[in-house]
Amino acid sequence: MIVTEEEAEEKLCPFAVAADTDYQKNCEASVCMAWREVNGATGKDGKPVGYCGMAGVPN
Ligand code: SF4
Repeated sequence: MIVTEEEAEEKLCPFAVAADTDYQKNCEASVCMAWREVNGATGKDGKPVGYCGMAGVPN
């Protein structure tokens, strides 16, 4: 799923959920080492987009 950082932050991180800690469970987008920005691509709002590299490359 390719999304803006703001959209990613509204979604759960499966790894944080599996860890089941009190730490936040939403995706942290570019704060996370697994975040992959799609060079040159932007969302509807003109902001850069990316995806979680831990989930594989989106089709
Ligand atoms: S980029 Fe992936 S691993 Fe990193 S916080 Fe987001 S969902 Fe979790």
